Amino acid sequence: MFVEFDTAQELLKRYGSPLYVYSESILRQRCRDLLEGFQGRIKPSFSAKANTNLSLLKIIREEGLGADAMSPGEIFVLQNAGFAPEEIFYIGNNVSCEEMSYCIERGILVSVDSLSQLEQFGRISPGGKVAVRFNPGMGAGHCEKVITAGHKTKFGVQSEFYPEVKKIIEKYDLKLVGINQHIGSLFLEAEPYVNAANSLLCLISENFPGLEFIDFGGGFGVPYKPGEKRLDLSELSERLLETIDLFLEKYDNKDVHFKCEPGRYISAECGLLLGTVHAVKKNYGKNYVGTDIGFNVMMRHVLYDSYHEIEVLSDKKAVNGINEATIVGNICESGDILASDRDIGPVSEGHIIAVKNAGAYGYSMASNYNCRLRPAEVLLAGDGSVRLIRKADTMESLMNNF
Ligand SMILES: *Cc1c(COP(=O)(O)O)cnc(C)c1O
Repeated sequence: MFVEFDTAQELLKRYGSPLYVYSESILRQRCRDLLEGFQGRIKPSFSAKANTNLSLLKIIREEGLGADAMSPGEIFVLQNAGFAPEEIFYIGNNVSCEEMSYCIERGILVSVDSLSQLEQFGRISPGGKVAVRFNPGMGAGHCEKVITAGHKTKFGVQSEFYPEVKKIIEKYDLKLVGINQHIGSLFLEAEPYVNAANSLLCLISENFPGLEFIDFGGGFGVPYKPGEKRLDLSELSERLLETIDLFLEKYDNKDVHFKCEPGRYISAECGLLLGTVHAVKKNYGKNYVGTDIGFNVMMRHVLYDSYHEIEVLSDKKAVNGINEATIVGNICESGDILASDRDIGPVSEGHIIAVKNAGAYGYSMASNYNCRLRPAEVLLAGDGSVRLIRKADTMESLMNNF
């Protein structure tokens, strides 16, 4: 863990509890892992939905990554972080014509993921450049809600519909410049990703000559559970590049380039969520540790049953020493659980708890539910300084839209 008790205590005193804390050096390292791992042959683009903090996006851009956006809001933030239109890829899903136009006006490439949306794109932008997201019929992921390809999801164009795609492309004189896919989130083995890449390349080599790029999607996992093995990037890279080389032997455009869309892999591990224990209690035989980290601050466990390692930081002996406990927040729902039945050791009121790997889908999913204020975010910069990179909400900000 990159923050010890003394620092954590100081940060919470200064910026309030709870608090998201990010490590610049870890963030940069993850970007470099990907750039080096793929030897410059597969360009990583950060999937902004994982974390849209402006300062983090600037760092990611400095490292040379592109970015993927899923909404005009994300485009707006990415452009404010300095990403040029050609560095942003808009991966739309059931978007309005206004949203497509928002991208087209700014010179940002759009990926559509249904025949229905491709038709609409053609009507708005005849002769324009477009990308199509296919669903290879196989998915992967840590829970059903994040499996984004296969037979049971809303995403992508079914591979068998490629003749219809070609018809619409011709009808509107569109230029199909890229094909993308995303099979799901959080795989820790190379196998499913390589297989899906391979099936996409088969579809392309037989049906779609002349593409400028092919994008294999994101989903690269990080080890959330203790003892879990890291994704072996060098194995993944080796196998992907082998697959690509075979494909290129037959493909007409030897200059086609390759991309991927990691989100979590880049930002999860650089983020730590600090909070404070406000109550320790027993309810009908079960121990509860009550904190200020409600699911308005971190909702991954509530949404996906996700596991985050949690540590207690303290300098004093616990008064009510308890071991196995369920760690909960301060939201008025019994589902407001951060971690179930954990052996977290002695803990009592006033102790600090640290939620690890909180840099992806943490703050970006935070809300004002229960009129709770979203916390501040700080960066532990490479030079050792601490920078406030997003202020906490205020009572006044709750009144912003009235
Ligand atoms: C969410 C998403 C990603 C990123 O997923 P991670 O698991 O964070 O890598 C990439 N591409 C698309 C289309 C997505 O929806």
